[in-house]
Amino acid sequence: MTGKLNPLTSTQSQIFETTAEDADEPIRRLVGLCLLHTGLRTGEIVHMRPGWLIADNEGMIIEIPPEEECIGGVGPIGPGNKGRQNLNDRGEPCTKCRHSPNREDNKWKVKTPAAIRIINIDSAQQSLVDLLDWWQQGFDCLPLSHRGVNYHVQQIAEEAGLDRKVTAQNLRHTHARMLGQKGMTATHIMARLGYSSLGPAQQFVSDPK
Ligand SMILES: [Zn+2]
Repeated sequence: MTGKLNPLTSTQSQIFETTAEDADEPIRRLVGLCLLHTGLRTGEIVHMRPGWLIADNEGMIIEIPPEEECIGGVGPIGPGNKGRQNLNDRGEPCTKCRHSPNREDNKWKVKTPAAIRIINIDSAQQSLVDLLDWWQQGFDCLPLSHRGVNYHVQQIAEEAGLDRKVTAQNLRHTHARMLGQKGMTATHIMARLGYSSLGPAQQFVSDPK
């Protein structure tokens, strides 16, 4: 597994969740709760589009497609922008997609085929379902870069008084840890998080099998 494994503890994740729910900015609430309760990768939440969300009686489904058009770019930046045009409205791929080794047009692609998956959000997460519904009605994409997502996550952590750095990836691992604590199997965690193999998922279960 890439990246350090440093999920929030149960106490930390409870405080983080409460603080995220109370954040002034709805986008910050959305980012905090969505990452904590879905385990999405940063690249996945950044490229999420309204069409990925399907509401149902039970709550909501996020359906991650193999690829998606990336419209998160800000176009050419730097001193060249003398005309002060709106660089947020260029429809160009974000920096990550632009520099992707297997870049193809303006497409974002899942990290691995295993990442093509459906994530259920049940009605127990009503705040998150409401936020996703709000976002789906009014947005065409998440108005944040990778850095922007991590900025909001860290702001929540600071507001929560957590004496540690928190990244989107930490929240992904926190979600996996919570699933393991609920007794879910490594197979289930692998599918939920979109891992290609059981190895990474087994870190989150007490009884790997
Ligand atoms: Zn992109």
